[in-house]
Amino acid sequence: MDFQEVFGKPPETQASAPGRVNLLGEHTDYNDGFVLPTAIPQGTTVQLSFSSDAYGGLRQRQHHFYSENLNEQVSISDINHSPSGFASYIFGCIELLQKAGYTVPSLCVYVQSSVPMGSGLSSSAALEVATLRALRQLLNLPIDDVEIAQIAQQAEIQYAGVQCGIMDQMASSLADTEHILFLDTRTLERRVMPLPEKAEILVIDSGVPRTLASSGYNQRRAECEEAARSLGVKALRDITDVNLTKTLPEPLQRRARHVVTENNRVLEVLQGVTSERFGELMNASHASLRDDYEVSVPALDILVDILQKTEGVFGARLTGAGFGGASVALVRSGQSKGIATHVLEQYNQAGYNGQILVPALD
Ligand code: ADP
Ligand code: MG
Repeated sequence: MDFQEVFGKPPETQASAPGRVNLLGEHTDYNDGFVLPTAIPQGTTVQLSFSSDAYGGLRQRQHHFYSENLNEQVSISDINHSPSGFASYIFGCIELLQKAGYTVPSLCVYVQSSVPMGSGLSSSAALEVATLRALRQLLNLPIDDVEIAQIAQQAEIQYAGVQCGIMDQMASSLADTEHILFLDTRTLERRVMPLPEKAEILVIDSGVPRTLASSGYNQRRAECEEAARSLGVKALRDITDVNLTKTLPEPLQRRARHVVTENNRVLEVLQGVTSERFGELMNASHASLRDDYEVSVPALDILVDILQKTEGVFGARLTGAGFGGASVALVRSGQSKGIATHVLEQYNQAGYNGQILVPALD
């Protein structure tokens, strides 16, 4: 069903926003460090029109949200403050604009997305950023792309109940598929840079669900806080010389070594590197996540190993928090689909159920 079929009239405006994948800088965000995401080709489109509805004669606003992907429609009034599911992301964006002093009338909202949901490619940020972009257009709001990312993050935290950093929303709002976003998660200093030369992105899911992810994640966070305390700094981001971590007991020493070396890898990219060097840094990141940070699993190690040995691959590593989930590789332009077929053949022969996420298969 399209907008017209759901709401009985055409949309007044529409906007899109992409999903994202993090190329380098893993487990650095909660250490006040640096990240390097890029946008993926898949995106979310939000179409909008005004709705003439008032709620129960009370002249309250009433919104209607429809997701094509879920084939689900939700109607919600603004006295009904806590929707759940996909409506919470959209409602959060609307409510936060109202709290910022903008008047948002009753709306019909139609969502359609090609970003896989819940696979770590940030369909949630794409939904929020597309919603806010569409609202900015419809209502002529004087908000810039950074403000959109900030409102989107708050919508996810306050209305969807997900404690997220700002990386996903900044990437969706500021990056595109030709550009990577360098982001300092402490100062929010950022720089949009072109993707390394003659290269494109390949994301393959390992097929291994991220079990143990949340307990492992919380444990790593606690270890980093303890390491920073022992070293007398606010966050591990304040350590740049890896030798300083040698005074720490294990496993804190290895955990800190990952964070310090990972931040240094991102900063090296900021100086400008070739695709070959970028690939080496991704390979080093994977080794560090596997050996020092211990967030990989055998399936991801096998998948990344196959990728790294494949012709046309500059470098590969696990992406996201680990304990399962996806791999990301930087590969020669135009070769990602061929490489994916070759890699998945070997990987799935080893008994796994890998799947290509980016680029989208048509
Ligand atoms: P990720 O952001 O990695 O895809 P999340 O769990 O953070 O995973 O976000 C997924 C949630 O975002 C979905 O469960 C749904 O509530 C919402 N969402 C994202 N895209 C859509 C969409 N196109 N239609 C409906 N809900 C969506
Ligand atoms: Mg998300």
